[in-house]
Amino acid sequence: MASKRPMPTDRPAADAPPACVPRPDTDCVLRVDLDAVRANYRVLAARAAPAAIAPVVKADGYGTGAVEITRTLCAEGADSFFVATLAEAIDIRNALAPRLRPAVYVLNGCPPGRADLFAAHDLIPVLNSLDQIEVYRTTSAPRPAVLHIDTGMNRLGLDRAEVEELKKPGRLNGLDVRMWMSHLACADEPDHPMNVRQRDRFRAALADLPKAPASLANSGGCLLDKSFHFDLVRPGIALYGGNPQAARPNLFRPVVTYSARLCRLRTVAKGDSVGYGACFTASRDSLLAIVAAGYADGLFRSAGNRGFVSLEGHKAPMAGRVSMDLIVLDLTDLPQAVVNKVAREGEIELIGAQTTVDDWAAFADTIAYEILTGLGRRSRRIYDGHAD
Ligand SMILES: *Cc1c(COP(=O)(O)O)cnc(C)c1O
Repeated sequence: MASKRPMPTDRPAADAPPACVPRPDTDCVLRVDLDAVRANYRVLAARAAPAAIAPVVKADGYGTGAVEITRTLCAEGADSFFVATLAEAIDIRNALAPRLRPAVYVLNGCPPGRADLFAAHDLIPVLNSLDQIEVYRTTSAPRPAVLHIDTGMNRLGLDRAEVEELKKPGRLNGLDVRMWMSHLACADEPDHPMNVRQRDRFRAALADLPKAPASLANSGGCLLDKSFHFDLVRPGIALYGGNPQAARPNLFRPVVTYSARLCRLRTVAKGDSVGYGACFTASRDSLLAIVAAGYADGLFRSAGNRGFVSLEGHKAPMAGRVSMDLIVLDLTDLPQAVVNKVAREGEIELIGAQTTVDDWAAFADTIAYEILTGLGRRSRRIYDGHAD
C-alpha cells in the first residue's frame, strides 16, 4: 500500500538535518563548491548594486541543496530568498537556525486553504491573480505579500485588466505589499526586444500603484543594464554556475562536480557494437570505460552517442546510448597516462570545470537548469568550501 506523503506541518521542527543524507555506498557523487557559490553571488552583487539580491533556491537550490545554499548566502549578506512551493519554503524555514530569519517568498503563491501556514512559518506568498489576492487578504491585520504583475510572459501574474482593478480604492486593504515583481521571458538573449518591452510595461504599471520595492531581473536580467535591476534582483542559475546568456562567455564559476564510479575498462574489436540498439559500432579496436551513471541519475538519454567527457583536456566521446544506470566512454584516443589515472582513481568526472553543465545541456538539446535539477536523485552530495 502506498504510504501517505506527510503534510508539511508534520515535518520535524527546528534544526532538522538537510533532506539529502550523504550515503557512502552510492556510485555517483555530486560535489557542490560553496566557495564558488559565494564568488558567483559577489559577481552578481557587483553587477546589480545598489539593487539587493534575493537568491532563487527553488527545486532544492537547482539540485544543489536549498538549505546549504541559503545558509551560505545568508553569511554573504543575503536576507531574502525565493522558492517555488510552500513545502520548499517550510523545509528551509525549519532547517535554518533561529538566528537566521531571512524573508522567504513563495513564487507559486498560496495554495487554497494554506494561508495560515504562511503566517505560522513566517513566509510570504507571491500573489499571481486577483482571486489569490481576495483569498489571501484579511480584515484583521494586513498580511505580507509580493504582487506579481505580468508584463508579457503570460504565465503567472496580474494581467493589465487586473492591475487596473487593483488601482481602485480599497482593493489592497488587508495586504501589506512588500514588493511588486515581474519576470523576464527572454533575458537569456540580451538583444531580444521583449526585454525592453517588459521593462517599460513594468515601469508603467508601477507608476500608478502604491510605492513598494520592485523586482524584475533573473540571472540574465542581472547582466542587462542597470535599468533592469530596480530594487532587487532574483538570480538562480548564475549562482549555480550556469551561463545565463549562452551567446556570451560565462562569467560564473562552476559549482557542481558530478563524478561516477568506473565499473570496468574493456577492449572491443573493430566492427563490434556497444550498448542497446547496437547503435555504436567501433571503427577500430577500442578501449572503453563503463561508467556507473545513466539517465536515472540525470544524464539525459538524448546525449547518447553525441556527448563527450573531457579528461585532462582530452575528449572521451560517448559510445552508444545512455542506459538507465550506465554510460560507455571511448578512451581510445586518450594518452596512456590519462587512462592509467582514470583506472587508478576508479572514478570519472562527468560534469565539472572541464565538461560543464552547459556542455551537457548542448549534448542533450536542453538547458543547464534541466541538467542541474536532474542530478540529485541517486547521488551522494558532498559540500566543499565554507557554509558560514
Ligand atoms: C526561476 C526564477 C528566477 C530565477 O531565474 P534564473 O534564470 O535561474 O536566474 C527568477 N524569477 C522567477 C519568477 C523565477 O521563476
